[in-house]
Amino acid sequence: MANSCIIMKFGGTSVGDAKAIERVVSIVRDRLPQNPVVVASAMARVTDQLLKIARVAGDGDRKTALTLARELRERHYNTAGELLGTALFTEFHSDLGTEFEELEELVRGISAVGELTPRSTDAVASYGEILSSKLLTAALSAHGIEATRVDSRDCIVTDENFTRAAPLFEETNSKLHELLRPLIEQGRVPVMGGFIGATRAGVTTTIGRGGSDFSASIIGAGLNADKIEIWTDVDGMMTTDPNLCPEAHRIKVISFDEAAELAYFGAKVLHPATVLPAVEKNIPVYILNSRNPSCEGTRIAARAPHSKNFFKAIAAKKRITIIDIVAPRMLLAHGFLKQIFEAFDRHRIPIDVVSTSEVSVSLTVDSNESIPALAADLSQIADVKYEGRKAIVCLVGENLREVPGIAAHVFGELTDVKIRMISQGASEINLTFVIDEEQVPSVVQRLHKTFFSELDAEVFA
Ligand code: ADP
Ligand code: ASP
Ligand code: MG
Repeated sequence: MANSCIIMKFGGTSVGDAKAIERVVSIVRDRLPQNPVVVASAMARVTDQLLKIARVAGDGDRKTALTLARELRERHYNTAGELLGTALFTEFHSDLGTEFEELEELVRGISAVGELTPRSTDAVASYGEILSSKLLTAALSAHGIEATRVDSRDCIVTDENFTRAAPLFEETNSKLHELLRPLIEQGRVPVMGGFIGATRAGVTTTIGRGGSDFSASIIGAGLNADKIEIWTDVDGMMTTDPNLCPEAHRIKVISFDEAAELAYFGAKVLHPATVLPAVEKNIPVYILNSRNPSCEGTRIAARAPHSKNFFKAIAAKKRITIIDIVAPRMLLAHGFLKQIFEAFDRHRIPIDVVSTSEVSVSLTVDSNESIPALAADLSQIADVKYEGRKAIVCLVGENLREVPGIAAHVFGELTDVKIRMISQGASEINLTFVIDEEQVPSVVQRLHKTFFSELDAEVFA
């Protein structure tokens, strides 16, 4: 039988500087008997900076774009210098230098044309993970771990939907087997960049912001891994964003369904698509803290134990726009919803929450620059209004299915808050509503206090 393996994905803060990368090296070393495959995000904030470089170059400001690119060069060289001995650094320096020359070439090309396409955006953004995976491979090797970098663009095959490309699983899986299996069998540690892939024709793509988690899951499912570990900067999935509510508690175990709802509605700790490939193969996913590796983290499993608490967690997603579509003439008209959804489809705008009445439909979308064009399009069939600076708050828990009166309990706590939309999800495990963005901290803190003051020790730490 082929050797089993585990996937270890390290997020941006876990590879953010030389100290963090050294911690990663020792975490990987501890797992060597389990045959780790390492997936790395770009160093913290690097993807943001690359996207800024791409934008500035697209505006034709070559000088600023190149200055920003040089800052990135410095940061990577400095980190490499701290991590590697002189001999290794000299070798690595020229490898990294070639990447930066290519990046600068690309930046010059974009500034000369003065136009940024999604395709060239991806080409620029991909450097974060190209560089971090090289850096991490060199650091592992410098510490005596036999690591081999595998270019994700040789394995992760995607469609051509640049900046949000979708993986083509069949082709990806066969490439993963072809390239990674031999390394695992030789006892080597493959290291790949997350977030990036390539089309069938070999053009670089990215799979959406925060997508390295998804990469880890694609790779894990493709290789039939025993588990997928998502290493980040918090102790696991918490009852709410610890930045918003420092009293948040760690959730010891959560179901795939609950984790997917939370991720989708704003729990940034996990990319929303991550659990899908893992669910299909029933591969457990763990969220772990690279600054506190002895903490057991959160296990995401097919089924979570029944909890005495109403909810597992509260998520909030800001920068939401509500679109209200009112069409009295269309009262009960057949095909009205179809026309609406087709308009969203034409503008490629995904919808989060929907609520309908006979004459109107309200929908929420992530705020973005395509909304005015969509509204103009929709105004041909109905009256359209839209309003930004909204937020979705989502309470998740398997208990919602069974316990009556939960909604009354939640909204009873929020009698002074203007609730714009309510939806109790089709999955029956989420209660979702929309409020003004600036009320998020107070609403989340109040709900957290009400529903998470006493915790079931089986499920929460
Ligand atoms: P990485 O760079 O490792 O991918 P992210 O920044 O994408 O890390 O995700 C980790 C962050 O997610 C945490 O620092 C935390 O602020 C945020 N977060 C939001 N909601 C939650 C939650 N429910 N549990 C844990 N972290 C959360
Ligand atoms: N580096 C990418 C981003 O910042 C992917 C990731 O970190 O998951 O979006
Ligand atoms: Mg992330």
